[in-house]
Amino acid sequence: MPVRPILIYGDDVLHDHATEVRDFDQKLRDLVRDMFETMDAAPGVGLAAPQIGVGLRVFVYDYPDDEGNERRGVAINPSLFITPTEVRETTSADDEGCLSFPGERYPLVRSETAILRAVDLEGAPFELVCDGWFARIMQHEFDHLNGILYVDRLDDPFMKDAEKVMRKSGWGKPGNSWMPGEDDIDA
Ligand code: ZN
Repeated sequence: MPVRPILIYGDDVLHDHATEVRDFDQKLRDLVRDMFETMDAAPGVGLAAPQIGVGLRVFVYDYPDDEGNERRGVAINPSLFITPTEVRETTSADDEGCLSFPGERYPLVRSETAILRAVDLEGAPFELVCDGWFARIMQHEFDHLNGILYVDRLDDPFMKDAEKVMRKSGWGKPGNSWMPGEDDIDA
C-alpha cells in the first residue's frame, strides 16, 4: 500500500511526541517510500510519519528553490535550530496549511531562517541551511514530530475559526482521515 490515508487533527499519534528511529531497515525504507508517494499524491510540500499513523521521528519534504533546483529528501531524527521569531502582525504571505487539517489555511509567523540537522536513510548525517518558505516547512514538519500542529500555534481570531471548523467537521477526536487521490479534498 504505497499511498496511505492521512490522519486528521484529533488522532492521538498526531499529538504525541514521536520516537527516535533506531532500526535503519527495510521497514523504514518502505515507510519512507510510502511517505513520498503519499506526499506527492496529496499533493503537499512535506509530510511527517505521524500523519500516516507512524509515531517515528521521520519527515519528507519537496520544495524546489526559485531556480528549480530539487530540494527533496527525508529527515530522520532531526534537530532544528531557528532564529528568534519576529514579533509582528501576520499577513496573507504567512498563510500556512496542513494535510492533517485539510482545506484550511491560517497565517502564522515563523522564524525566517532555520538549520536542520538529521540523518538520511543510510544513517548518514546532513545539514540544511534554510530560509523563507523552506525554513517554514522545516519548522512545520519538525513540530509534527513533537505532537504540535500549526493550528495549535494560532492566535485569535484564527484559533477560534479553526476550532469552529473542527466542531463542524467532527475533528478533534480520533478516527478521521482522508485518502489522497480518492477523497476530493482541497488540502
Ligand atoms: Zn502538517
